[in-house]
Amino acid sequence: MDRPYSYIVPEHFWHLVRLGRRVVVPFGKRKLAGVIVEEGKEEDLKGYAAKEVIDVDMELPVLPAEILKLTKWIGQYYMCSWGEAARAALPPGSAAPSAGSRARTVTMVQLNPEAPLNPPTGNRQQAIMEQLRIWDAAERLPVPQVEVLAECGGSATTLQRLEALGYIELGVEVMDRSEGSMPSRDSQDKTIVLHEAQETSIAAINKQLDSNEFGCFLLHGVTGSGKTEVYLRALKHARDAGKTGIVLVPEISLTPQTVRRFRRRFGDDVAVLHSRMSLGERYDAWRGIGDGRYPIVIGPRSAILAPLKRPGLIIVDEEHEASYKQHDPAPRYNARDVAIVRAMNNGSTCILGSATPSLESLSNAQSGKYQLLSMPDRVPINGVPARLPKIQIVDLRNEKALFQKKEALSARLIEAIELRMERKEQTILLLNRRGFSPVMECTSCGWVPECPDCSVSLVYHKPLHHLRCHYCGRTDRVPNVCGSCSLPTMDYAGTGTQRLEEELQSKIPAVRQLRMDLDTTSGKGSHHTILDQFGLGMADVLLGTQMVAKGLDFEKVTLVGIIQAEAGLMLPDIRSEERSFQLLTQVAGRSGRANLEGEVIMQSRQPGHPIIQFAIRHDYAGFAKYALESRTTLGYPPAGRLVSITFSGPEDAKTRDLAERWRSCIDSRLKVVGRLGPSPAFVHKLKNRFRHQILLKVPLQVPASHVRSAIFAANKAIGALPNTYRLNVDVDPIGIV
Ligand code: ADP
Ligand code: ZN
Ligand code: ZN
Repeated sequence: MDRPYSYIVPEHFWHLVRLGRRVVVPFGKRKLAGVIVEEGKEEDLKGYAAKEVIDVDMELPVLPAEILKLTKWIGQYYMCSWGEAARAALPPGSAAPSAGSRARTVTMVQLNPEAPLNPPTGNRQQAIMEQLRIWDAAERLPVPQVEVLAECGGSATTLQRLEALGYIELGVEVMDRSEGSMPSRDSQDKTIVLHEAQETSIAAINKQLDSNEFGCFLLHGVTGSGKTEVYLRALKHARDAGKTGIVLVPEISLTPQTVRRFRRRFGDDVAVLHSRMSLGERYDAWRGIGDGRYPIVIGPRSAILAPLKRPGLIIVDEEHEASYKQHDPAPRYNARDVAIVRAMNNGSTCILGSATPSLESLSNAQSGKYQLLSMPDRVPINGVPARLPKIQIVDLRNEKALFQKKEALSARLIEAIELRMERKEQTILLLNRRGFSPVMECTSCGWVPECPDCSVSLVYHKPLHHLRCHYCGRTDRVPNVCGSCSLPTMDYAGTGTQRLEEELQSKIPAVRQLRMDLDTTSGKGSHHTILDQFGLGMADVLLGTQMVAKGLDFEKVTLVGIIQAEAGLMLPDIRSEERSFQLLTQVAGRSGRANLEGEVIMQSRQPGHPIIQFAIRHDYAGFAKYALESRTTLGYPPAGRLVSITFSGPEDAKTRDLAERWRSCIDSRLKVVGRLGPSPAFVHKLKNRFRHQILLKVPLQVPASHVRSAIFAANKAIGALPNTYRLNVDVDPIGIV
């Protein structure tokens, strides 16, 4: 249904309607929320019984024309409807027809962090839980009850039942909030004297800002080189000229530390958006931004659609981060790329910052599309640049004893941790959990228990002594005997964060540690609590998954240990090497940030792997050359574009059939484009649905519009999909597994 619909505005609403305003309209038998995008003409209504607008929402800010244009572009480029894209530009919850002017309070639905692991029994209940998990992943929770019911059916009683069973939480929210007080600003600008590379960068950025024309910078600066200081100065310059600014930060590094730095400079000019805000807080922030009360907005990917008037400066920190891409639901947009388009539309300046730029952005800088700014050294202390940490390798192939005992921490690493404890310094330990999970295996035949619904290995959870599927949440008893050879030889393989925690405790009984992974951070704010505790020196070691690598800046951390550096390199994804290099570089950058020298100990079974070698030498340029060569040979981004099409449905053969039919439709229409598949997706079966995938490899010279119309034509040619079967299009997918 990707087209605007025409409605008649009754006379008593005439003074209220405006382009970009939200309205409630009848649609078939239902009432839906819509956004006014065009003024129609009388002729449009010929031979068409248009209905009347029911209500006009005066609570939400009007979407500026610029945002309407941007969401239209998003719909076209990412192949979703304009409506879906516009919805992403409204605060969550406002898609429900009754969330508007009348409702001062609404019942909100949130996932219960202690929800039972088994899915609920009822079909409707399951559908609701599934939808809530999707919204959760998209940072859209809590949502109003009405929106849940509109999407999944069911009644208020279904939700009350789910709450009684402990799956969800229902709460009543008041939609309006009074302003919390914010710390007053102080001008730290004076105390920090910019170093040379910062001066050069700022001069170029300010010049661009003054030109009032579009320009994009790639700020490539090693960790601790002072990128954030550059952002702050650029924002100051933009503000002094009366301009506004958006700062995008990956959700995970939107820490109180980060926010404080912006608040200290700009006080209550800053609106912070994040996923832990209540609906009321979000409405308020949104309205305040729309009214021009907050000229600076800082937030994760959805903040790129904030209704800020004429953003003069858009900053994307850690531009390489995968979390800027939305997977589900549509729009499957990449906020970094939308940032560039928004800046282009407004003649604004855009800064993409990273210590490990994505290959896409690097190649745009190499071709001159972006201006490259380099800050190759850390901030100097007493005139000498702080050194990047020394990286040592422990070759795990020489650690037979560890391997036999199924242990993970080498003697060298343990010694180094003890040394930090003596010196009252701190350690971060990274366990790259993906591909390195605590699964059970049969030591006789190698059999591994799998989830029958999802075809992935089940993971052992010690506190509850059961096996759990990390995709669908299904749980199973721990088997006594092997499911294949029936011998009683089941044992644990690999190491999870919990096992690592235990091993460390038994090897250094006096150690005080904090663990950070999905399990310890599921509660609201617990991620920040852990970081605060670590920052206050309440632990010697912070241990965890990728989360520990991002954006942390602790003075006392002088040691980073990487448990198995090659984990993650083997995933069947074109970006697995790039991801690994970024992760290793990022986490190594956590060490020795202040005036204490840092050390990194990398344990690996493949110390000679090129990616590990580049990481050890802090050699981004070498890595980029190596990776760009292989991407170019294969026609992968940035040497080509990808579009992934996923079919899913309850029956495997039927799903594959649909994919096959679609393939024959696309092949005749897109001769110049490479095609992979259809093939079963990496996770073939997910939540009892089978998934088949087609990947289009589009050469750069083929226009995107050509690919789009071919895809639309193929969709049309295979006709309406059977009930419950789905086709998802993902343009520029970020992970293809
Ligand atoms: P990055 O964002 O590149 O990792 P930051 O901007 O966080 O680096 O800078 C690292 C630390 O150095 C911060 O504590 C910051 O306040 C400080 N800093 C930045 N620039 C300077 C400078 N020119 N002189 C002294 N300290 C600085
Ligand atoms: Zn066996
Ligand atoms: Zn499963």
